[in-house]
Amino acid sequence: MWAEVPLRLIVSGAAGFIGSHLCDRLLEEGHTVMGLDNLLTGSLANLAHLEGNPHFRFVRHDVTQPFELDGRVDGVLHLASPASPKDYLRHPLETLEAGSTGTRRMLELTRQSKARFLLASTSECYGDPLVHPQPETYWGHVNPVGPRSCYDEAKRFAEALTMAYHGTHGLPVNIARIFNTYGPRMKLEDGRVVPAFLDQALRGEPLTVFGDGSQTRSFCYVSDMVEGLYRLLLSDERYPVNLGNPSEMTILEFAERIRRLTGTSSPIEFQPLPEDDPKQRRPDISKARRLLGWEPRVPLEDGLRLTIDYFRGPAAG
Ligand code: NAD
Ligand code: UDP
Repeated sequence: MWAEVPLRLIVSGAAGFIGSHLCDRLLEEGHTVMGLDNLLTGSLANLAHLEGNPHFRFVRHDVTQPFELDGRVDGVLHLASPASPKDYLRHPLETLEAGSTGTRRMLELTRQSKARFLLASTSECYGDPLVHPQPETYWGHVNPVGPRSCYDEAKRFAEALTMAYHGTHGLPVNIARIFNTYGPRMKLEDGRVVPAFLDQALRGEPLTVFGDGSQTRSFCYVSDMVEGLYRLLLSDERYPVNLGNPSEMTILEFAERIRRLTGTSSPIEFQPLPEDDPKQRRPDISKARRLLGWEPRVPLEDGLRLTIDYFRGPAAG
């Protein structure tokens, strides 16, 4: 019912990788979108194609600061937070603030507007998981004082705050636990493994595999992620839902696939494994399948080709 009318939605983190794709999708669905972003890790280039769109407005705003809203809002989708390990290790305090004060401000805005709220949470809530694959019922294995804690604990706090607003104020909320997602508009230099390996392969430089490459991940193409987020937004599920691709591989296997796909002659160079780097990660997406009828559709090779086209094109700079 809720989605049958055009909605007025706020997307925080709109100039980021996933946020900008989400704005595109919401606009395609006929909704009106206000994008908030302080451009800490995002870029206006990700929204340049929306310039002049009467249904979209960008406001440069730090979500940890008060926000005066003029007019009605039906939903707030809170994605604002550094997300790449390189970014959050460089900005630990800003990351903690975005997850805590930023989430609080976005929740307050939602409450005052009698709107609904979607939190972009993360698989990092599971830390370096001891249960594999990870279902939503697993509480995680997080080092609260390690280098990644600024991100992990901020997101865990954000989830707790979101549930407290739901319990205390009856706010309709959704919590998406997003697993590794990739695609066009990632920054080449953001340090995450997909842009790092593609950049290295396209330049003919060594692919930097951290540790012995036996740690596992699975990669979800961004259009699949946005579909999952949209379905979750329309659902009545108040507890966390995993969104990600269950097709798991080791990082060494992933490096080999990138080498084959790009035809590069880049060698593999092993580098030290960062502290607390999760050894295994794969979402159990049974809940999303059951509740949202969702599962990823885009095969890895197709998604990687689209991402390579983007990195080769003028948009990459
Ligand atoms: P991104 O860095 O591209 O986007 C995040 C955006 O938030 C950036 O545009 C940044 O400028 C903005 N931002 C940061 N702090 C802000 C603040 N205080 N006020 C306003 N804007 C602020 O990252 P992304 O990959 O698009 O991630 C988006 C969301 O999804 C994040 O919340 C992240 O934790 C979550 N997530 C992403 C992944 C992934 O694989 N991409 C995985 C798990 C969770
Ligand atoms: N990784 C790597 N080489 C790189 C960048 C990352 O081997 O140049 C590894 C990293 O150690 C991790 C995995 O790839 O095990 C995914 O890293 P990413 O930073 O993309 O995200 P994470 O899942 O760790 O948040």
